[in-house]
Amino acid sequence: MKRLSILGATGSIGHSVRTLLADAPGLYEVEAVAGGRDVAALAETARALNARFAAIADPAAGRALAEALAGSGITSGAGPSALIEAAQREADVVVSAIVGVAGLAPTVAAFAPGRRIALANKECLVAAGAFFMAEAARQGTEILPVDSEHNAIFQALEAGPRKAVEKITLTASGGPFRLRSREEIARAVPKDALKHPNWSMGAKITIDSATLMNKGLELIEAMHLFALPPERFDAVVHPESVVHGLVSFVDGSVTAGLAMPDMCVPIAHCLAFPDRIVTSCRRLDLVALGRLTFEAPDEGRFPALALARAAMAADGVAATILNAANEVAVAAYLEGRIGFYGITDTVAATLDRINGGPAPASVADAMEADAQARRAAAVLLPKFSAKAS
Ligand code: NAD
Ligand code: MG
Repeated sequence: MKRLSILGATGSIGHSVRTLLADAPGLYEVEAVAGGRDVAALAETARALNARFAAIADPAAGRALAEALAGSGITSGAGPSALIEAAQREADVVVSAIVGVAGLAPTVAAFAPGRRIALANKECLVAAGAFFMAEAARQGTEILPVDSEHNAIFQALEAGPRKAVEKITLTASGGPFRLRSREEIARAVPKDALKHPNWSMGAKITIDSATLMNKGLELIEAMHLFALPPERFDAVVHPESVVHGLVSFVDGSVTAGLAMPDMCVPIAHCLAFPDRIVTSCRRLDLVALGRLTFEAPDEGRFPALALARAAMAADGVAATILNAANEVAVAAYLEGRIGFYGITDTVAATLDRINGGPAPASVADAMEADAQARRAAAVLLPKFSAKAS
């Protein structure tokens, strides 16, 4: 049996992991689960998975969690040190599925020789990708991408040597506003933006999918995961979300990863690699689909992509700042404090204000740059309030 810990166990990815574990009885046992603030959900998850330890990020929720777990034999803790404990307990695989840069310190704490990180948290790689990958290599920790596009690319890359890769293409669904005019998009309220056509995911990544910032973050994520220069990566809109990623080789061959849009598929790959496990994930039926379509992303209506590309090319602290400003702006949008284009306006203004400096060389460096960017973004936000620009 493989031993598993799940950071972000109560979220959307956490739920997909639970579905998979139910599909594969006897293959995995759960050591630790961690969540943000929802005591009842975390206690229910810990009991259902028969975990040994549960950690909640909210330092004030420790007693409530212990009470909710009373009689279960599951020990628990609260606050940052409990998250670190959850990450560091003995496990073969740690699923990193906390949302946002909050997942960076626990994920790096999980690094250990021979351990595998099933990485869903893309913000880790955006905020501190160079450090993150170097540190994982230094510690002999394997990083496997859960993000569907990167997982597809990881598998497609097995077809040839890295030096023969000409181009890597990530697909984007285009989000709920793919066919809307700029004026309509400017008026979009969170309820509209939260209606993703293909995927059911947490709120933050769903808004990122609506702005296309998600694809921008994913280009940066891919650059670090696959260690190729920025110009080798491209994004194409593919509304069916069936082809997730493609690798073009120097001889003209292209390999691609296809699957139905169901996160169980890449998670199963990460848990079982290099083996495969039987799952109840949705199966691909090409005839039922009939056709697959592709189009260029419209950077006029979706400025996030160009912002992310610029940060990617800058190769310093810019991506850390972009990520922090985006997290602040998405939260403000969800709270109704700014309009839809206020998100990318805030990111652009924050990058204008404090861009510059080397890429973070440690978790502390990344968190310091993140905090500075959050303060700047918070000051800039009111400029984009009320009126949707
Ligand atoms: P979610 O909002 O559904 O779940 C987030 C999880 O993180 C929850 O367990 C929550 O309790 C926990 N959390 C939140 N804040 C925390 C904090 N400060 N400290 C500790 N835990 C905290 O999000 P999700 O959709 O599951 O996404 C998780 C990560 O996976 C994100 O980085 C996202 O980009 C990535 N991802 C998700 C999907 C998907 O299909 N949902 C696909 C690809 C990548
Ligand atoms: Mg993705």
